[in-house]
Amino acid sequence: MKNASIEDRTLKGDFQGTSYNLRVFRFGSGKAGAPKAYMHAALHADETPGMLILHHMLPKLQAAAEAGLIDGEIVVLPQANPLGGAQVLFQDTHIGRFDLATGQNHNRGWELLPAEVVAEIETVLSQDEAANVAHIRRIVGAAVAAREPNTALERFRKEILLLSHDADIVFDIHCDDESGRHLFIIPEQWPDWEDIARASRSQVALTAADSGGGSYDECLSTVWTRLQARFPNHPIPLACPAATFEYAGRSDVEDDVAAEDAQHLFSVLCSRGFINMEPTPLPDIKVEGLPLEATDMLRVNTPGILTYRVAVGDEVTKGQHVADIIDPTELDPAKARTPIHATTDGFILSRRTRKLMFPGESIMKIVGREILDSREGGYLLED
Ligand SMILES: [Zn+2]
Repeated sequence: MKNASIEDRTLKGDFQGTSYNLRVFRFGSGKAGAPKAYMHAALHADETPGMLILHHMLPKLQAAAEAGLIDGEIVVLPQANPLGGAQVLFQDTHIGRFDLATGQNHNRGWELLPAEVVAEIETVLSQDEAANVAHIRRIVGAAVAAREPNTALERFRKEILLLSHDADIVFDIHCDDESGRHLFIIPEQWPDWEDIARASRSQVALTAADSGGGSYDECLSTVWTRLQARFPNHPIPLACPAATFEYAGRSDVEDDVAAEDAQHLFSVLCSRGFINMEPTPLPDIKVEGLPLEATDMLRVNTPGILTYRVAVGDEVTKGQHVADIIDPTELDPAKARTPIHATTDGFILSRRTRKLMFPGESIMKIVGREILDSREGGYLLED
């Protein structure tokens, strides 16, 4: 293949004789100074919609690369997480969200900017914005390359960061449980990312400067916003805008829909200068950008059977009875039922497919427009 390659990277497992394979697709001429895009799916390894979208993306990128229409590089991992991919239990349950060995959520606890890296960056900053970007990427990349991972999980994360830390744009493609489409970005990316939000046919772009969990996309984008805040007298752009896309629910896997989604993302890569082709029209929809602190995640504090009184997409008002938790061991029907009420005006973004719930679990997201006291400055993610 001209200007395209398939690379298999071996990740040593945590037991003698075990290993994983990370398959990396690269497209483009790789000219110095030309832009780089990075996209992967299934960091949460049981989330299927993104794998199918990137499956449909690969031949488009191959054709563009072979025609010499990609000056820089586009790196694609349709299945980013072989560790999580292999965690199938009893032909019934796929544990793709958490690493079984450590309990680590695969999309939490990512970090590129420890104090010693910031200290080194401070010594090289100047008034030259392009030089600052190059220095920051070099120092951050060298720090990742110098990591000496002990576990398969750490080796995996090092590889992903080596592949993506110097990209000019990053798409991290996920899905929710039962859900409308949405994406998570930092506030600095809105409304600039309105076109990309439309390309993903999202209902809403949820923005947070720091959602508190060290998600993969924030680990990349906030390198730049954190350095901007730390060094306000030096020009530092947002050199790696990134997003977590939630392509609806885990069961929303349709071949024709995914093919259209791939085309829309491909179109954005054209309009934003990663591919030298005319973009195709994006969906003509309106996407709202709203602070994640205005989205409530309703949780339950008692075990029981979950029943909903509202569907995904429904508008609700604060105080509205939206769900019940039912204790089947209670004889009195009234006592058995714990009503759950909406805590904000808004619309139902997501629900759970599992209907037997345990204390502390989140049962739905309600997207509101007013920042909630209970959410402000706190941990904003589901788990
Ligand atoms: Zn996910």
